[in-house]
Amino acid sequence: MINYLYQEQNWQSQLSDLITDPSELLSLLELSSDQLLSGAILASEKFKLRVPRAFVGKMNAKNPLDPLLLQVLPHHLELEEHPEFVTDPLGEEAANQLPGVLHKYKSRFLLTLTGACAVHCRYCFRRHFPYQENLPKNDDWLNIKNYIEANPDINEVILSGGDPLTLSNRKLALWLERLSSLKQVKILRIHSRVPIVIPNRIDEQLISLLKNSRLRIVLVVHSNHASELDDFTCSKLLQLSDEHITVLNQAVLLKGVNDSAETLVDLSYRLFEARVMPYYLHVLDKVKGAQHFDLIPSEIDAIYQDVLASLPGYLVPKLVREIAGEKNKTPLFGATTF
Ligand SMILES: *Cc1c(COP(=O)(O)O)cnc(C)c1O
Ligand code: SF4
Repeated sequence: MINYLYQEQNWQSQLSDLITDPSELLSLLELSSDQLLSGAILASEKFKLRVPRAFVGKMNAKNPLDPLLLQVLPHHLELEEHPEFVTDPLGEEAANQLPGVLHKYKSRFLLTLTGACAVHCRYCFRRHFPYQENLPKNDDWLNIKNYIEANPDINEVILSGGDPLTLSNRKLALWLERLSSLKQVKILRIHSRVPIVIPNRIDEQLISLLKNSRLRIVLVVHSNHASELDDFTCSKLLQLSDEHITVLNQAVLLKGVNDSAETLVDLSYRLFEARVMPYYLHVLDKVKGAQHFDLIPSEIDAIYQDVLASLPGYLVPKLVREIAGEKNKTPLFGATTF
């Protein structure tokens, strides 16, 4: 483990001091491969390297196959073309109703308030999405409000991204206040990887904001491997559930990162120690540049069968794929066997 006392630095300064230079990342991890470095430099021209030091602090030095490193280090394989891997695999541009609003499912929609993330995950299905053209401006609130009111089935708003927890508490407070002014909105969900990559983001202000809201708050974090959940990170997540905030986890099944039942079982148990319930295990979206993380269906099936056989039912994440045009995430296991 590399020695870095991220616990003591506030999240704002961690967020403004991200690692974006591949050679810095590799030298911190004592990796001196020219091949890794040149691949990383080339691939980061398409989708920049971006990783908080706190996350690098959870990696093991001298291991080019560290499962956390593989998620963030740009790789020359990203540049290979593959006909099945495209820039908008989920048809998000078509579902984009107005700036910031992505409404595909009946009761809930995604509201994107920022295009920024604290970390750039190499497998991210949004790596090509034109965020900057799609963010609501301050006076777009009226349009969003009208949109919600015109769709009475909506009872939940999901702040997604980009990563909403890169926003200031002040800005989050403003949106919480706006959304809670609409009676039909009962649940506010926040999808974020920041609590995993910069655990100090869970600060007192954020906790007080969430626990004092009229809305039921659900935080869905994104962790793919038990090594992401060190004791400090778990202690921060526990603070949220201490305040009756529901915390769930979604993960993505990734070749080389968590493609074994043992790794996924460890992840579920570790999450549960932090009182976080496993929610989804996503099959990789076929986004251009991520083909080297892909697994074939028979491998996925074998891993998931083993996970089912190893964990109590309540710790088994739902294996799902997102299929453009479907009314919900599509469950993948057993769907055709009854
Ligand atoms: C994934 C997603 C949701 C959330 O789906 P749940 O199954 O409720 O977690 C909502 N809207 C969009 C557009 C999504 O992609
Ligand atoms: S949206 Fe989520 S998965 Fe994609 S880069 Fe940002 S943090 Fe990573």
